[in-house]
Amino acid sequence: MGHIHIMDEFLSNKIAAGEVVERPSSVVKELVENAIDAGSTSIEVILEEAGLTSIQVIDNGSGMDEADALKSFQRHATSKIENEHDLFRIRTLGFRGEALASIASVSKITLVTSNGQVGIEVQLEGGHVIDKKPAPLRKGTDMKVSQLFYNTPARLKYMKTIQTELGHTIDLMNRLALCYPDIAFKLRHHDHILLQTNGRGDLRQVLAAIYGIANAKKMVQFEGESLDYKISGFATIPEITRASKNYMSIFVNGRWVRHFTVQKAMIDAYHTFLPIGRFPISVINIEGDPFLTDVNVHPSKQQIRLSKEAELMDLIEKTLHKVIRQSMQAPEIAEKK
Ligand code: ADP
Ligand code: MG
Repeated sequence: MGHIHIMDEFLSNKIAAGEVVERPSSVVKELVENAIDAGSTSIEVILEEAGLTSIQVIDNGSGMDEADALKSFQRHATSKIENEHDLFRIRTLGFRGEALASIASVSKITLVTSNGQVGIEVQLEGGHVIDKKPAPLRKGTDMKVSQLFYNTPARLKYMKTIQTELGHTIDLMNRLALCYPDIAFKLRHHDHILLQTNGRGDLRQVLAAIYGIANAKKMVQFEGESLDYKISGFATIPEITRASKNYMSIFVNGRWVRHFTVQKAMIDAYHTFLPIGRFPISVINIEGDPFLTDVNVHPSKQQIRLSKEAELMDLIEKTLHKVIRQSMQAPEIAEKK
């Protein structure tokens, strides 16, 4: 007799959770991305103890029927891709179908959801359904994740202070709001509203809500297009800089990513106008055929691979440089080769 056995679903989900669910902000990210994928125009996030006690995300998206509500917590359960072909043309934020299974395995969840025709409430503990009952027909989803890591004491111990954990979530929510000006976001921590946007689609207004009106006013808008990519965004004039690159946001096809080369192209676009060690506050939206972007690098999908990188970098540098130079009303500077 051999020694190998296949582990049960609950154990394997708990192990997978180690990768997907690092801290409260990872839960917020997965739940809010699901709300965005569900077509919501309003998303509210309510935290207790920076999310360690509870994280609640309320959206007005498509909602789910009873069967989907139950299925959504199973591993590899997704409505977003069906076959291998889809994997190369991803237009949604999610597609792996493992976030809810992972989160559920290390927390207690109350899900209330309705697609407008039926309403259902489901309660889970450690990934097991412990109760379900009918719920009101308010279209959308209200997911409350409580006692995160209650059954993984090692991970719980690893959590930093409330301020640190909250900082991660504020940063995440700011980026999502910048990426989706058409969605009204609200982030609440106990009695404090930490972010609120109106969802009217005005990116400069979102920038003002996050970085202050004075800074938002000192930003130039840019827009450009190459054969394969379209870019647009805002960046501060060289007068307004920060000592950290953390105020630079990069979005590729609606996804917040970290991308060293794009960041460098943005900085290079300033040529010598930017003091050494100082960086702009900026937002860049990059759009291209999903075929050119490989998001399947890591479960958090924050790293991506871009094809035709040289073309994109050239586009960014030239487009941004032009508006920066205009803002400085400086004499023509020879284009960099
Ligand atoms: P993925 O997002 O990768 O598909 P998840 O585990 O995050 O996987 O979610 C599983 C499925 O549950 C989704 O594909 C979607 O059909 C459904 N779902 C999750 N959250 C919501 C929501 N807020 N509104 C509507 N459907 C949802
Ligand atoms: Mg998801």
